[in-house]
Amino acid sequence: MSKFLNSTSKYFEVAAGFSDIEPGVLEQVKSCNSVYRMQFPVTLENGDVEVFTGFRAEHSHHRLPTKGGIRFSTHVDQDEVIAMATLMTWKCAIVSVPFGGAKGGIILNPKTAGPVLRERVIRRYTAELIKKNFIGPGIDVPAPDYGTGEQEMGWIADTFKALHPGHLNSYACVTGKPLTLHGIEGRTEATGLGVYYGLKEFLNRSEITKDLGLTPGVAGKRVIVQGLGNVGFYAAKFIQEMGGGIITGIAEYEGGITSADGLDIEAVFAHRKETGSILDFPGATNVTDSKDLLTAKCDVLIPAALEDQITSKNAPDVQAKIIAEAANGPVSAAGQEILLERGCLIIPDVYLNAGGVTVSYFEWLKNISHVGFERMVTGYESQSNERIVSAIESMTGRRADAEQRKLLTAGPSELDLVRAALGETMTKAAGEIDEVWRSRKLPDLRTAAFSLAIDRVSRTYLNLGIFP
Ligand code: NAD
Repeated sequence: MSKFLNSTSKYFEVAAGFSDIEPGVLEQVKSCNSVYRMQFPVTLENGDVEVFTGFRAEHSHHRLPTKGGIRFSTHVDQDEVIAMATLMTWKCAIVSVPFGGAKGGIILNPKTAGPVLRERVIRRYTAELIKKNFIGPGIDVPAPDYGTGEQEMGWIADTFKALHPGHLNSYACVTGKPLTLHGIEGRTEATGLGVYYGLKEFLNRSEITKDLGLTPGVAGKRVIVQGLGNVGFYAAKFIQEMGGGIITGIAEYEGGITSADGLDIEAVFAHRKETGSILDFPGATNVTDSKDLLTAKCDVLIPAALEDQITSKNAPDVQAKIIAEAANGPVSAAGQEILLERGCLIIPDVYLNAGGVTVSYFEWLKNISHVGFERMVTGYESQSNERIVSAIESMTGRRADAEQRKLLTAGPSELDLVRAALGETMTKAAGEIDEVWRSRKLPDLRTAAFSLAIDRVSRTYLNLGIFP
């Protein structure tokens, strides 16, 4: 069993130890229902044929469709997709998204594969999923993950559509699509924004910050981020722009950079785009081995790249007081034990990076409804606001100027609705995890989050009963 699967399994066992649910039901809740391993040939640009290996794991069918990203990575294996599909089940349960968990992966280096190869591989992978009934709006709905993005999701939708002529809900077979293919505003940045909202929730609880010796709130907190990809970039951007946090370090594949005064995230991103590296960013200090930044001084460490980054080897040297798990499984079970002993607060991945699947759920709802959320409410809200402003004007005898009127009467855009619903989801789930943590006197936030998820999934299985 891989270290990652071993860790997710251990976390489950710890939380299950606090549950009074029948062991047989817990066994079913833990089991991964289906795994599909496939190999398929693809013609390379030079005419050679290469055989690729892919996986799709559907962890729990207690709710359908199942949901989870697809990654391009050279490290993908069966254990990894099972572990990540399992995390997706807990994640959906924690943020009350009515899906089971799934995950997919293809062994491919996203850094060297060009667009032609990516398209051929993902289209053939989709065809393989269709062959075995592992994809569909009511079956299993993929999304982007490490190494994939909206373009790959667009190719998946197109392949599904082409092989299901006349299927009314074709576009709901995948989320994280481009806007032109019925994607949703706010999906690209959803996971990173959710990380910011989630971190804010726990930093705003003064009983927690007091124990950690920190002041409440995100403002002024010194933050190091590992991975400036989709999740890490947006998490850092919102922490800086909305929360007033200071990004003092960024760790990437090619090395790291630090600045005690704070790094301008947008500027670092532009610098990387221009030069191909975050290194040599003006005013910052280069760090040759970016792993050193995981143990550098800061208030909050945000691993947002890959799993197993903080293990028993480096956990004793971690100086951060809060580990905000933006990536999936960045802290191993052995690493967690050491961090908890040292009084760190770990905000677990199953809660913190659930923003992506939450907004994916909104995209899926939009796709099966065939109408954007704002279309049915914006006009009404705008008219309603007009009436309120007019009433206030007549009561006060003062008129709002054109700028004020525009601001006060505008109805919500799709982005406004998505962000508000995401914020509300993260707030509600944080409250529920916190409540379980305190009321059941559980040892840590992860155990609380897992307990909440196990309860919810078990209850569904118990109510469904066992099909003979
Ligand atoms: P991404 O491919 O957009 O970004 C990953 C970044 O990490 C890249 O910039 C890459 O260069 C960097 N990286 C790779 N190895 C590294 C290393 N050893 N040290 C430092 N940096 C390294 O991927 P992403 O979508 O941002 O996903 C990141 C993590 O978040 C993964 O664990 C993924 O499963 C998880 N996640 C993603 C989403 C999503 O919506 N994209 C949702 C939930 C969880």
